[in-house]
Amino acid sequence: MNKRFIPVATPVVGGSEIKNVLKALLTKEISGYSKQYIPRFEKALANYVGTKHAIVVNSGTSAIHLALVALGIGPGDKVAVASYTNMASFFPVLQLGATPIPVDIESESWNMDPDDLIKIITPELSAIIVVHIFGHPAKMDEIMYLAKLHNIPVIEDCAEALGALNNGQMVGAIGVMGCHSFYANKMITTGEGGAVTTDSDDMAERVRSFASLSFGKVSKFFHEADGYNFRMSNIQAALGLAQLDRISKNIYKKRNIAATYNALLSGETRLQLPTERENQFNVYWMYHIRILGVDLNQRDWVISQFSEAGIETRPAFVPYSDQHKVLNLWNQSDVRATPKASSLGRQALYLPSGPDLKNKEIKNIAHHLKRIISQLQ
Ligand SMILES: *Cc1c(COP(=O)(O)O)cnc(C)c1O
Repeated sequence: MNKRFIPVATPVVGGSEIKNVLKALLTKEISGYSKQYIPRFEKALANYVGTKHAIVVNSGTSAIHLALVALGIGPGDKVAVASYTNMASFFPVLQLGATPIPVDIESESWNMDPDDLIKIITPELSAIIVVHIFGHPAKMDEIMYLAKLHNIPVIEDCAEALGALNNGQMVGAIGVMGCHSFYANKMITTGEGGAVTTDSDDMAERVRSFASLSFGKVSKFFHEADGYNFRMSNIQAALGLAQLDRISKNIYKKRNIAATYNALLSGETRLQLPTERENQFNVYWMYHIRILGVDLNQRDWVISQFSEAGIETRPAFVPYSDQHKVLNLWNQSDVRATPKASSLGRQALYLPSGPDLKNKEIKNIAHHLKRIISQLQ
């Protein structure tokens, strides 16, 4: 094997990132209090998403945590969460002492199913966390309609979908708050990092305060609340500002990669490929596929076959209702079943989708996939 090992994704970092980070270091502007790059990155991000405010923080998980804290979520509260997601969408709910209610997915885009949300929505629900999974927006028109009917705030988990659109409106600007991740493999990166976007002055103020130890406004060390230190450093914001200039190019490349995979794989009856609904714009964060009819062992066998060919793939998320460890840790014995998410979790994986992926490599990956699934029963 003389070919390069193909990773699922590598970040694109170039001259402008190096220049910005170097400036932060040379000027010794490195903390989360610096006014050098942080306000500029926040302004540029808010402008891009189309919200009045953006507050940058140290991770996407922290962004979700802060959004819940800003809404006052705590013990006794129930929060509906899309079942098929990174557990980072669930853990902050548990850590705040609230109860997550998993909502099953629709099988077209693998996002929260409004028809399943209807079954659990009551005015007693304290919040809804919608996830735009793998870059495709959830059915926001239906979900926002239901949420408004019952007066329930919607938090959007946009960690995989910066730049995705629903009826021309960007995700992160639709619910009361949008939570973003700038982890190394996300649409843009600061290494580790995240942000909350919102039009609400009140929510912005609360998120900003809780993200920085809730320091007192009159007398700094008379704190307003028991806050967190979830600040992003100026070094990360320096990187992020340069990265935001690349977002259109990253989306263009991801969409091209998806179109190339689609063209090569659309005849495979064994596969469910990612979709793009009318009036929605998919940024195709990762090319996520489902192999119909397989069980967990077969799916894992496919992953191992790819690995032997020098191609890295990743298994699907394990839905909350199947996280046995979580059930033990938090002693939640009556977790709602979400069978569609569970089934997807056993049958799906994602293929290499890095912006630097070459056409030749995509052809090679598609060729291996066809060969591997032809060997399945
Ligand atoms: C990555 C991710 C997160 C968490 O973001 P971090 O920056 O890694 O904390 C949350 N939700 C989803 C759907 C993600 O993919």
